Amino acid sequence: MKKTLDNVNLKDKIVLARFDLNVPFDGDKISDSTRIIKCLSTIKEIMKSAKNLIILSHLGRIKKEKDKEKLSLRIVANELKERLKEEKLDVVFESSTNFEVIKRRIKNLTEKQIIVLENTRFYDVENEKILKKESKCDKQLAAFWASLCQIFVNDAFGTAHRKHASNYGISLYVHDSVIGRLVEKELTIIEKVLNNPQRPFVAILGGAKVSDKLGILSTFLKKADKIIIGGGMAYTFMVAKGLSIGNSLVEKDRVELTKKMLQENHQKIILPVDNIGTTEFSNETKVQYFEKGIPEGSMGLDIGDKSISLFKNTLKDAKTIIWNGPMGVFEFSNYEKGTLEIAKTVGKLNAFSIIGGGDSVAAVNKLDLNEYKFNHISTGGGALLTLLEGKELVGLSNIKDQ
Ligand code: AMP
Repeated sequence: MKKTLDNVNLKDKIVLARFDLNVPFDGDKISDSTRIIKCLSTIKEIMKSAKNLIILSHLGRIKKEKDKEKLSLRIVANELKERLKEEKLDVVFESSTNFEVIKRRIKNLTEKQIIVLENTRFYDVENEKILKKESKCDKQLAAFWASLCQIFVNDAFGTAHRKHASNYGISLYVHDSVIGRLVEKELTIIEKVLNNPQRPFVAILGGAKVSDKLGILSTFLKKADKIIIGGGMAYTFMVAKGLSIGNSLVEKDRVELTKKMLQENHQKIILPVDNIGTTEFSNETKVQYFEKGIPEGSMGLDIGDKSISLFKNTLKDAKTIIWNGPMGVFEFSNYEKGTLEIAKTVGKLNAFSIIGGGDSVAAVNKLDLNEYKFNHISTGGGALLTLLEGKELVGLSNIKDQ
């Protein structure tokens, strides 16, 4: 395990922490504060001992100068200020990206003040020039951030698979780097599930493409007892089985590979036995039901009721479940049932459940979480996939082991 907050003395230190405060917006209001709320416990823990805390995060994507108008972290800093008031912790914001201005501001902080610096990706574009200083891990930028603090805490799991200046870069230059509590929790849970799962261990995979999920498919073929496959990626498997799929999503160059997977693991891989869909990629055209194959001119957009029952049955005795990727085009109301039914099923089972990936998490968040229970809702999409593939998270690679 990487060094954590338990392995450093923060007393009277200036700490710099990288969080994932990349919250969604509805107009100019934050529409979901989950990411802010999740960081609070690491912030409070740091501030029990530290003198000051400097906070970094990215927000959205900056491709041109104009993008900066809507993607300032100021609103996020304001919400943090509100949420930390009760703890008697003061939060301020620095909008300048000028190194000298930032240094001066930090020097003038009063004891126990927290400062949020501007969106790390603002350094990707300067005066309309695309420089990608944050995204391409510019050394000067990383060394500047590192020079502001004595200890670096990386608690941004969502970007842990990226080699950016604000994660990999800072920990290259700073004296001491550790992971924060959120990252620690993600790493601990995934390690436990992959190395010592309670069995039966069932993985559920969905989403658009087989090719995106090849790495985790091979992990689960080794580690899981059953793999349920739904969503667009199931149709490549259906072709491998010799079934017709009409105009459904398919990756022809993966058919041979999926055929081999099915031959070697025919007991382990559970595929849909029926589908619903329509004639166009649309929520407006008439919904059709397909048993077995899908005729020319139609496409599958969700799993059918028999598949839902089959998947529920496969899950019923599971003691460990990992789910990544929707069962259908759940953005369309006609095709959300498969995904929501699986979410409800997992949420009612007495199994240790991990949900990861933006779409599966969005599906779970549509449910009443007082009624349905999930043990771990991961904050990382790409980072979770990287971890499940058994690969190193490059953003954390400069943080030493305990
Ligand atoms: P991923 O990012 O690979 O997990 O894929 C998520 C996307 O897969 C979602 O936007 C879904 O709409 C899409 N998806 C799921 N099932 C299907 C399907 N049967 N046909 C087309 N797209 C699908």
